[in-house]
Amino acid sequence: MDLYQQLLATDRQFIWHPYSALQNDLPVFPVVSAEGVRLKLADGRELIDGMSSWWCAIHGYNHPQMNRAIKNQLDNMSHVMFGGLTHPPAVKLAETLVKITPDSLTSVFFSDSGSVAVEVAMKMAIQYWHDKNLPLKNKFLTVRNGYHGDTFGAMSVSDPDTGMHSLFNCSLTQQIFIDAPASRFSEKCSQTDLDNLHSALQQHHTQLAAFILEPIVQGAGGMRFYSADFLNRARQLCDEFNVLLIFDEIATGFGRTGKLFACEHSQIQPDIMCIGKALTGGYLTLAATLVNSEIAKTISNGSPGIFMHGPTFMANPLACAAANASIELLLQSDWKNKIKQIEHWLLNSLKKCSELNNIEEVRVLGAIGVVECKQPVNMLKIQKAFVEQGVWVRPFGKLIYLMPPYIINKDDTETLCHVIYKILKNNN
Ligand SMILES: *Cc1c(COP(=O)(O)O)cnc(C)c1O
Repeated sequence: MDLYQQLLATDRQFIWHPYSALQNDLPVFPVVSAEGVRLKLADGRELIDGMSSWWCAIHGYNHPQMNRAIKNQLDNMSHVMFGGLTHPPAVKLAETLVKITPDSLTSVFFSDSGSVAVEVAMKMAIQYWHDKNLPLKNKFLTVRNGYHGDTFGAMSVSDPDTGMHSLFNCSLTQQIFIDAPASRFSEKCSQTDLDNLHSALQQHHTQLAAFILEPIVQGAGGMRFYSADFLNRARQLCDEFNVLLIFDEIATGFGRTGKLFACEHSQIQPDIMCIGKALTGGYLTLAATLVNSEIAKTISNGSPGIFMHGPTFMANPLACAAANASIELLLQSDWKNKIKQIEHWLLNSLKKCSELNNIEEVRVLGAIGVVECKQPVNMLKIQKAFVEQGVWVRPFGKLIYLMPPYIINKDDTETLCHVIYKILKNNN
């Protein structure tokens, strides 16, 4: 057996993949290295990466500056506990994050993954109201089609029907859901969207800790782009009804939508914000929850006077060093224009997909391109077809989407789009 077959056989025997079964028919593809926007398979084939490893690898793979930063940190210390100790990479990263995120956010809680950053945000909101002597305010309002992660708190605010978690409904805290905003990106907020939010807040505000949602782009819950004005109105209404506003920018952060953070498309700022995914440029797992000073002070001066969370690998130095290097690379680059370029290439090359009769809609925002089909795609067939055509694209449900590394060039972007067109056309 060659290396490729050997890896596959052992993988099949022992390993769970995301949202998959053991020993099923869906293929996995062994990758042995990656460079720039190309993944190299164990049999020597190369694939153009259209996924950035789920929003993360914004600078592409094997980037010399990123590699150097992590190697340097490795020679100093790879990890040290964060209870009672601190270190330069974490201090630098926290200072940078407070500077580049909305002004309202003044302190940082580090965690290991996006889901945990969401748990932390929810716990902070609950602890805040507890310390305000309003302990009944412990539920969350959110919009349908959201996705906030796979842990129990995060699942409870993810879409209850189309989401991947309906199976667990019986053990989840029941939260309050309203319809996802139907008002499109660049449109004003419709009266219906406004009324939905208003009536939910009016009815439930005495038990609501916060309104949590992904600003502008709903990611894994449907790749929907919606009105920035909805966020403006949400801010006003949350203030009016004394409900905190939490933005989950785990997917949208670090330039993906054309702004450094998606909330900058609106005029308002959240009370709590979660970031992750592209935070380390896709090198290591790290996430963060940022909060405003009112929440930080209330929790710190309340009872028990400490925030009740503390992961073992909190603020891992290697991950913080990677994040520092990634943010530096991003901010030193001409990222705004690069994202505009990618947006333009995606628009031009994906629009021909809308001629096909199995296509519901093609939409593009920043470095995100989405082709929504009328029917769910056949994953077994389509995944193999993409790899045979030399691209890495991973659809889910009715959605085929691209979110390439920001370093991608025009040719590779066009190839990604053209392969999507070709495969969808053959499936007609
Ligand atoms: C991916 C994602 C999460 C969960 O992050 P993990 O690192 O997978 O735990 C949460 N919210 C949003 C918006 C995401 O895209």
